[in-house]
Amino acid sequence: MKKDLDKFLSLHGRKADMISVTHIIDEMHYYQARGGKDKEDVKCKADPYSIGVTEGFYLEVVLDGVKVYGSTPSLSQLPGLCDRLVDRAKVLKPYQLIDFTHQPKLSVSGTFCGQPRTTLSPRAIQDTLCDYSNDLMTDGIYTSEATCFQIYRETLFVSTHGVMTDQEMHGSALHLSATAEKDGETQTRSNGFNCLQMMLEDQFKEASEDCARIRMQALELIHADNCPDGVMDLVLAPDQMYLQVHESIGHPLELDRILGDERNYAGFSFVGLSDIGNLAYGTPLLNVTFDPNVSSEIANYAFDDTGLMAEKRNIIKDGQLVRALGGYDSQYRCNISGVACARQTSWNRAPIDRMANLNIEPGHSSFDDMITSVENGIYMETNRSWSIDDYRRKFQFGTEYGRLIQNGKLGAVVKNPNYRGITLPFWHALSHVGNADTQKISGTLWCGKGEPNQIVRVGHAVPVCAFKGINVFGGAA
Ligand SMILES: [Zn+2]
Repeated sequence: MKKDLDKFLSLHGRKADMISVTHIIDEMHYYQARGGKDKEDVKCKADPYSIGVTEGFYLEVVLDGVKVYGSTPSLSQLPGLCDRLVDRAKVLKPYQLIDFTHQPKLSVSGTFCGQPRTTLSPRAIQDTLCDYSNDLMTDGIYTSEATCFQIYRETLFVSTHGVMTDQEMHGSALHLSATAEKDGETQTRSNGFNCLQMMLEDQFKEASEDCARIRMQALELIHADNCPDGVMDLVLAPDQMYLQVHESIGHPLELDRILGDERNYAGFSFVGLSDIGNLAYGTPLLNVTFDPNVSSEIANYAFDDTGLMAEKRNIIKDGQLVRALGGYDSQYRCNISGVACARQTSWNRAPIDRMANLNIEPGHSSFDDMITSVENGIYMETNRSWSIDDYRRKFQFGTEYGRLIQNGKLGAVVKNPNYRGITLPFWHALSHVGNADTQKISGTLWCGKGEPNQIVRVGHAVPVCAFKGINVFGGAA
């Protein structure tokens, strides 16, 4: 393919000031097994294995400071598409909003390959999921589910300015859940959605030890009291913290949202351009980094989809906002530095600002330190619902599993634990950040943004964190 794209650029590259083309192949493999009680029989049903593959070319042209883009599934249609984009740039020139004439030229070259693909056959994966689904069933459990997604992406990006990046990325998400039922009420316990760049074989090893805990905790929940209402201290496990970071730090700091590009769909941001470098986002314990180089997280790459080299960057340092999540175009528009974060969901979408691996750096507190510090509070694990306004200011999260904390000790399990807050006061209530022993990698394959919609994978490595005086409520509220 490299020879074909080089040939295309050598024949057509002089038609504009800059032409780039990206060849993208995406694969998504989906497997699921479900168990359920039908009278006295426990049955596991393996749903059909499905695979989706898309392949095509994304073309970008800059002519006289006008940037236009298009896409095609066919290599043979690239020359025609290129001519149309050149014509479109000429037509759009009088209406140009941003002049890209002086955008710095990118000239990088490199290859990247993430974790290897699994060697397990589809049949072996389905059989393993069926085993998990059966293992999750026991007396009192009504249904169980074991779901696995495997994603693969190959990109080859070349430009007339000398960019050549060749990348291959893999990832997997494994979801295990058990639902208990009593007197018409149900409670579901799960492992969250473990989205990692890890060999599926290794993920399976960890999962096989997790089934007993999940089914036991589902039964605990169905017999538990509701989470109490009130203002109290809150300790959050990484499988809830990751979404807290994602929604109330990641999205409001995306530069295209701050610029208003996403206002019509994904939303705006309470953060303004003048806040970058000046805003106290949280207590000095809060250190947030952008790092696509962490190999076990799912948004791992060496170059973003515009050819910027991926480098670790401080986003919030000692509580202060120091940098936003803006890619090549957004940085140029605002004349500020950013990160290598422009990504596209597919060959037929343009790269936009996306968080990649966005992490909270570990602190110094052990898990026991955090629990001991709480006189009256609650510990929550595993996100199950979320709601946040389109300025990313006010939020509400529901979690699967709570335990009361009284006088420094973990106590009774409670069901339907929820909390709500306002972004800046919440991060200013951060009282402890867990050490590296408490850190866990999470993420999602389904961060949605853009119009038309673009779904991308994002990773979050986060420790356990504790907060003072948070508004907590249970199922009755
Ligand atoms: Zn998202």
